[in-house]
Amino acid sequence: MPVQPLIRIPAQSAAGFTLRPGDLLEVVDSQGGQVADLTAFGSHGARERFSSGRTLDYNEHIYLTTGARLYSNRSNVMFTIVNDAVGRHDYLLSPCSRAMFELLHATPNHPGCLENLARALEPFGICEDDILCTFNIFMNVDADAKGRIILHPPRSKAGDATTLRAEMELIVGLSACASEHSNAGANKPIDYCIITQNTAAPQQRERSQKTSERAGSTR
Ligand SMILES: [Zn+2]
Repeated sequence: MPVQPLIRIPAQSAAGFTLRPGDLLEVVDSQGGQVADLTAFGSHGARERFSSGRTLDYNEHIYLTTGARLYSNRSNVMFTIVNDAVGRHDYLLSPCSRAMFELLHATPNHPGCLENLARALEPFGICEDDILCTFNIFMNVDADAKGRIILHPPRSKAGDATTLRAEMELIVGLSACASEHSNAGANKPIDYCIITQNTAAPQQRERSQKTSERAGSTR
């Protein structure tokens, strides 16, 4: 079985690509402690998009892992999580943005996932206003007994991966989250690969140290 090369998303940037039904998207935190914001749209454009609200409605859980499904605003299944080494991701919070850094941290002109995702998705006709919410892979968000949001460092260690299966034709944006507040104080790259229906399942691939080595070779 061929091993898919990993594609690197440099720190504080994003990538845009398409997936077909059945394709597996493997997202790898090669250095550990790094969040990847995922957003998705129907192949026909921005009117059908990932909905954190619908996803919360149908999963009835704020922590999604293997077996969970991500839904669109039209209640179609966009992704199923099929493999998950970490088990803690977030979809309560929206992607970080220039405005968020100004409002919450008094930091003007800070790079943000919203702007980075919009730039990566521009060739697909997706703009900033179209990106309402994201599934924040490896992001570790909790709530205390009073309902206050608490941001913890990601649980992902170097080489940990989460794999999602596309359940429809998708336009996808994926970022190496630009916020040091989400990434334990340091912004790092994120790696990913797309495994089409007739190639190796992710469980059959070797990872950890070898994942990092392969990632390094694709830079
Ligand atoms: Zn971010």
